[in-house]
Amino acid sequence: MQTIRGFRDILPEHIALWQKVEKVAIDLFEAFGFKEIRIPVLEKTQLFARSIGEATDIVEKEMYTFADRKGDKLTLRPEATASIVRSYIQHKMYATDPVRKFFMTGPMFRRERPQKGRYRQFYQIDAEVFGVESGFIDSQLIYLLNELFKRLGLTGLSAHINSLGCPKCRPSFQKALLEFLELKKDKLCDNCLRRIDKNPLRILDCKGQDCHAAIKDAPATLDYLCNDCSEHFDLVKTTLEEQGVDFIVDKTLVRGLDYYTRTAWEILTDSLGAQSAVAGGGRYDGLVKELGGPDTPAIGFAIGFDRLVEVMEQISQNPSDSGLDLFIISIGDIAMKKGYLWSCELNQAGISTEIDYRGKSLKALMKRANKFNARYVLIVGETEINQNAAVLRNMNTKDQDSIDIDTLIPELIKIFK
Ligand code: ATP
Ligand code: MG
Repeated sequence: MQTIRGFRDILPEHIALWQKVEKVAIDLFEAFGFKEIRIPVLEKTQLFARSIGEATDIVEKEMYTFADRKGDKLTLRPEATASIVRSYIQHKMYATDPVRKFFMTGPMFRRERPQKGRYRQFYQIDAEVFGVESGFIDSQLIYLLNELFKRLGLTGLSAHINSLGCPKCRPSFQKALLEFLELKKDKLCDNCLRRIDKNPLRILDCKGQDCHAAIKDAPATLDYLCNDCSEHFDLVKTTLEEQGVDFIVDKTLVRGLDYYTRTAWEILTDSLGAQSAVAGGGRYDGLVKELGGPDTPAIGFAIGFDRLVEVMEQISQNPSDSGLDLFIISIGDIAMKKGYLWSCELNQAGISTEIDYRGKSLKALMKRANKFNARYVLIVGETEINQNAAVLRNMNTKDQDSIDIDTLIPELIKIFK
């Protein structure tokens, strides 16, 4: 049996960086007032179709959707925002305090073409803020991402930011875009042609080479912002400058989901080839209302956890296994039982201890202790049991000491604590 295409195991020898990233991220989120939320992996298909948008790549081609036994249409979550918005509305969080900051980590599912940095089950670290319209929160999220990457020792990343405007400025932009696209019709792919009527903004996100060339000089949302959106974006930019966060204003950045308004951004890396986005985010001021809640501004980002780990693997070694404190070599049945009981007691006291259960020779067990990279080895055989003393060997200095069996546990705890 093999994993499904695009799905993979993350094996213990690769897990150290995942754990490190998660720890640094959680510490940072908590310091910035974010609370963890856990959401289901499966939701009604309609939730994603309505929030992400019908005419998007995710909804048109990438979702894992199936009918359950009763015929309900369900989808494995392709992203977290829609579910968190659903949760915010379902639990009427807005009623007690509309301002909420959430984070979560977990798997997402998209049926795309698998390649390095692109999987069908991948992981995201996600943050969302509800109830704040101020551009300060846009800056805070980008600042936080920047700080996270700094703490992880990452360089070669750049933040690309843009403003997509709001429903007030969209119509004039849309009109200009449609006029422009009308002239380029013969150069666009079938997919984009189909989207001209349904969702012309998506065409600006087409990865096809011909489309890319055709839309090079397309109108940009940034040139059609209303006063409010302009001021909002200015606040975000000046605040980031003041906070020392480098960014590039990228008029062509649109993001692949329908719900975005105003500030949108991506963090790009120069070290992952085509899969260059390690994080993406944006404001989605209309979505809470669209999904049945009160009019609530909101904003969030998602980090591609797999890609982040891949970037880190290029600059740092996966921290090697830190080894064991103690390996117990027990020879004979009585010693074996004692060794087993001691190992559990020591584990419980927080001392990493292993034992071999197979009754092998001293030589074989010394080899095994080395394999575990044990700092100390405790040797107990029949002679030791008779003398009521075990032998403790320091594997670095090769010094050996005899330890009284009756006081063995407190002695060892003293050594390791
Ligand atoms: P891309 O343009 O690379 O397809 P996206 O715009 O579809 O990315 P988002 O929906 O913004 O991605 O998700 C946020 C982040 O999640 C991305 O920046 C990326 O790092 C990561 N990501 C998205 N899809 C995948 C995938 N299939 N495999 C691994 N990581 C992914
Ligand atoms: Mg994508």
